[in-house]
Amino acid sequence: MGVELRSPIGAHVPVAGGLATGGLRYAAQIGAEAIQVFVSNPRGWALAAGKQVEDERLRAHSEQSGMPVFVHSPYLINIGSPNPQTVASSVASIRHSLARGAAIGARGVVVHTGSAVSQPREDAVRQLREHLLPLLDEIPPDGPDLLFEPMAGQGAMLCATVQDLGPYLDTLDRHPRAGVCLDTCHAFAAGHDLAAPGGMAATLDALAATIGADRLKLIHANDSKDVCGANKDRHENIGAGRIGAEPFAELFRHPVSRGVPLVIETPGRSADPHRADVETLKALRGV
Ligand SMILES: [Zn+2]
Ligand SMILES: [Zn+2]
Repeated sequence: MGVELRSPIGAHVPVAGGLATGGLRYAAQIGAEAIQVFVSNPRGWALAAGKQVEDERLRAHSEQSGMPVFVHSPYLINIGSPNPQTVASSVASIRHSLARGAAIGARGVVVHTGSAVSQPREDAVRQLREHLLPLLDEIPPDGPDLLFEPMAGQGAMLCATVQDLGPYLDTLDRHPRAGVCLDTCHAFAAGHDLAAPGGMAATLDALAATIGADRLKLIHANDSKDVCGANKDRHENIGAGRIGAEPFAELFRHPVSRGVPLVIETPGRSADPHRADVETLKALRGV
């Protein structure tokens, strides 16, 4: 396998002190080869302005080092919501994340696939099409892709299993700027038994069959505190949960994830936040 096909391994990094100042310092401490950041409060609707100096430093670092950067949009976003105010705020928040992502040279902006909450599923799906297609059309050629992240399957989630991504992407006319972010904890929670021998490879086979060979743009590598199919979204450190470390070796060998960056979103250990998880994954990758 050539170096260019190696999956960069990194983490969601804290950005206290500035996107570049804080984020890159943390990335260096843990040996991250890829990073994901928040560009505003993940639990709020405020559309934070960036700092141009920090944006340009991060962009230049990413360009020069080849380290891919991703943005995770706020958790409150739900285009499937029955509340029109939530939908309007969600559209503004995604647009903001895409613009901030472009400013820092991000490759992708991750957004959760959403929930119908209390309304009929077909109404929520209609809203996805109505509001997401214009956002996807707006993305400039050099801007970040919008990456849809399936959830753990709790409640009225619109997309949880790998198979759910088929109709979800069809709703968006398989738009060329619509990518996928696979969270291993969420997939396990939704019923994909990644811990079984061959389970990761089988899930990735199903993913490739559903979304095609080139639409997987990012992997959230997380272990799970809960058993397979529990529909619970509780991340655990790599190797310390119900998935275990070994299935990630299968992931590194699978063609659909070849070269696709991985970022961990694990709780970390008190003495050493995320370095151990990054090192575990690098060892499983083998290079
Ligand atoms: Zn997420
Ligand atoms: Zn999660």
